Parts: sequence; C-alpha cells; structure tokens
Amino acid sequence: MTTITPARTAYETVIGLEVHAQLLTRSKMFCGCATAFGAEPNTQVCPICLGMPGVLPVVNKRAVEFAVRLGLAVHATIAASSRFARKNYFYPDLPKGYQISQYELPICEGGWLDIAREATIERHARPEGAPKRIRLTRAHLEEDAGKNLHDVGDGASHVDLNRAGTPLLEIVSEPDLRSADEAVAYLKALRELVVYLGICDGNMEEGSFRCDANVSIRPAGSETLNTRVELKNINSFRYVKRAIEYEVERQIGVVEDGGRIVQETRLFDPQRGVSVTMRSKEAAHDYRYFPEPDLVPIAAPAAWIAEIRAALPELPEAKRARFAADHGLSAYDATVLTGSRALADYFEATLRHGAPPKTAANWIMGELLALLNAEGAEIDTCRVTPKSLAALFALIDAGTISGKIAKTVFEEMYRTGAEADAVVAARGLTQVSDAGELAAVIDQVIADSPKELAQYRAGKDKLFGHFVGQVMKRTQGKANPAKVNELLKARLAP
Ligand code: ADP
Ligand code: MG
Ligand code: ZN
Repeated sequence: MTTITPARTAYETVIGLEVHAQLLTRSKMFCGCATAFGAEPNTQVCPICLGMPGVLPVVNKRAVEFAVRLGLAVHATIAASSRFARKNYFYPDLPKGYQISQYELPICEGGWLDIAREATIERHARPEGAPKRIRLTRAHLEEDAGKNLHDVGDGASHVDLNRAGTPLLEIVSEPDLRSADEAVAYLKALRELVVYLGICDGNMEEGSFRCDANVSIRPAGSETLNTRVELKNINSFRYVKRAIEYEVERQIGVVEDGGRIVQETRLFDPQRGVSVTMRSKEAAHDYRYFPEPDLVPIAAPAAWIAEIRAALPELPEAKRARFAADHGLSAYDATVLTGSRALADYFEATLRHGAPPKTAANWIMGELLALLNAEGAEIDTCRVTPKSLAALFALIDAGTISGKIAKTVFEEMYRTGAEADAVVAARGLTQVSDAGELAAVIDQVIADSPKELAQYRAGKDKLFGHFVGQVMKRTQGKANPAKVNELLKARLAP
C-alpha cells in the first residue's frame, strides 16, 4: 500500500498574537517608582512593587490614558468600567505571588488593525489593493514581573525587581493571521502604531515590545480551529518569522506521521533554530483569577475619552494618504516616508524650508536612509538638519553644484554636520559652467583623443559619451554636464 503525502499547500496556518507593549510612563503601574531601563538592579523599587504586605496599589492614570489612546486608534470599544484581577502564580521574579492584570473586564474590547496583503508583503513592493483586516480581541492593562539574572559570574542566580510593576498593555488578536509573513506585517503595523501614539518606544531588543505567537494548522478550506501551540516571548521580527515557520513545519510533520498536536507552550531557540517544550497543557497554571480587592474599577468618563481622542496624533494611515495627496508622492514613497513619525516630520520640515517634495523624497529615501541604515542610526540623531538639506537642494537648483557632486557634499554634511555651502567652498566643488573655461578643457580632450575623434566622425555616435566622460574626469566632476553636452555637440559637429 502506498501512502499519499499531501502537498504542504494542503494545510492552512492559523495564527493569533498576544503582544506585550511596555507603556512609556515615567512611573510604574501601581507605585511611583521609575520605569527607566538599564539602572543598577533593585534601585527602582519600593514596598508596593516589592510586594510587601499591607501596602496599597494606586492606578497610574497615564497608563490608563495610553491604553485608551491605543483603543481609540484601533477602533476598539473603551469600557466605561473595567477592573483589575489577581492572576496567581509563584515565580521568584514575582514577589507578591500574583500579577495584577485585567481579566474579565479589559479596558479595550474588539477593534481591528489593517495590514498589507500577503502577496505584496512578500514582494516588498508597494502595497496594492485592499489591505487585510485583522480583528483584535482585546487590549488590557497589567504589570510586568521582575527579571531573574543568571550567569553573572558568581555562580549564583539573582533577582532584579526594577521591572516589577512596570505598566504593560497586552494586545490580543483574533486568530486571523494566515502565515508567518502576515504575522510579521501585523507586528510591524502594531509597533509603528504604538510608537506613533507615543505610548511605547517599540524597542524589541530591550523587551519593551514582545510577543507570544499561537499557531495551529488545519486542512486548507477548513473553518475549524485546531489545537494550538503557544510560542513564548519572541523579541524580533526575524525570530517571529523563523519560529512560526519552524512550528508550522513541525506540526505538519506530526500530522503527516499520523500524530496529534498537543496543546503546549514552546520556547524558540534562535541559535539552534528549533523550539522546545516549555510546559504542556497538563502542567498549565490554574491562575485562580479573582477581582483585585485593593483597587476600585477604572471608570473612564466619556468626556475624558473624547479629550484623548481629540489629542490623538495623525496616524500612519492618514499620514500616508495625506502625503500621497498633498505632496504628489507615490503610494510606495508615502509608505516609506511615514515609516516613523520622526522620518515623516523630517520630510515635512525639509519641505517647509522650501525643498521640492519629489527631490526631498528621493534624497531622504535614497542617500539619507542609506547612510543611516549603514550605521544603524535613527533620523533623530542625524547631523544634517532639514534646513541644511533644503539648502543643499537650493545649490543644485541654482547650478552651483551638479547632482553628482551634491552626493559628495551630502556625505560630508552627514559625517561632519557642516553646511552645504561651507563644504562646497572649502573643497572647491563649485560647478564649472563658464563656456570659456569648459571650451579649453574640451579642446584638450579632443586633441588627446585623435582615434576616438576619427571614429566618431565616421559615425560611431556612441563615442560622444567618451568625450563627456573625459571632460568630467579632467574637471573632477565639477563641469556642468548640460553645458558640456551643449558645447561638445557644437564643437564636434561636422
Ligand atoms: P489564553 O488566554 O490561554 O492565552 P486566548 O483564548 O486568550 O487564550 O487566546 C490567545 C491567543 O491565541 C489569541 O491571540 C487567539 O487569537 C489565539 N488562538 C486561539 N485559538 C487559536 C488557534 N486554534 N490557532 C491559532 N491561534 C489561536
Ligand atoms: Mg495567553
Ligand atoms: Zn515601586
């Protein structure tokens, strides 16, 4: 008997993500301790976040405001009254023995986030067609746990409670994602949004934006939700993709071998490229949730919500549409330039200093982003100000320098922070447009190229480029290319 192995396409992947975004409040969720990252261990703690008995937590209003901001931006329903609960479990980094979270009454319910279609994601092309809508289940507030420190050199393990009690917003999606690429697109869109909203720094390396991925497979065309596996704490886009792809292959393998998927939590090991079981469903916690008796429900008055809505910044989607409409940019250019609020602000500031939109878009997306990416830098720290960039364009426009020389000038501006005109003056890069000066160079070039001249005269038109190239070379690229063309044409005419 032969077994027929169905193709991989016979399966459909089903993914739902739980994202933890650390909120950018100065103080913790229920006490006044600082939330800054990187302090000496256990220096940002107090009796409340240390879980001492007899203390009383107080809700951080700013954290609630940030949750509402996110909720409004994703079209969620903001609960008029939401409540905190105790999620009980024991772990060394959780001194209270429970985490304060929201359970049956989260602050935000429902809503959605639009992502680009899968086909367009894979081609890294401009987003085409209608986006795909990913439904959100909920977003709720909770506190983070501390951190266990191993391998610090003394053979012992330590607990750092600086992070204990920092505010988190957990954003849960419906199982609407159908591939690792879609999951990454969703995460990128969500990260972009929380950064735009100013509620999270989006720093995945420091763990302020991390996710758990729930993955299952089913026969293509089926509508059932099969047993899922949870992949814990993934902190980079690349790992999300790799972890999900590995998990899908693993599940297909299990099913094709006649096995059954068991519900479990797995940890992805990026070094080895595999995931390992962390705990099975049987070992799953019973958290014994119950309402937090030390906190009253959060009431978010409609007037306050309206105030928060009125103060929302322009969101990525709206900004993209406006950039395309107002500045005549392509959908692709608009998408790149709104990739971060800082980049979009930089672009618009350049326009305010008189730069033509298309020129500014090309330079920022080309030269500027290339240099920034090469050193992994952000636009915020760029030494070339929007005003200086606009001044560089003005030099090109006035014919003082050629577009080619401008690139050299720009590189120096980027390195040193100098102004365009200063670089041009210091390095003698002013474009040569003077007909007499150029004619002298042209004469020399023609005198030195008798062979090419003969061939050109004999009809080999292509050689025109040789003469242009030689003139540019002898002027160190400073000759005005349009002028050179014009003069050469006249000079070489029979
Ligand atoms: P829990 O509270 O145990 O984490 P939830 O019901 O809140 O469980 O679901 C958590 C996440 O798992 C959600 O993002 C949801 O979309 C996703 N999910 C639920 N069922 C499936 C499934 N069959 N396959 C993939 N993801 C799923
Ligand atoms: Mg969960
Ligand atoms: Zn504290």
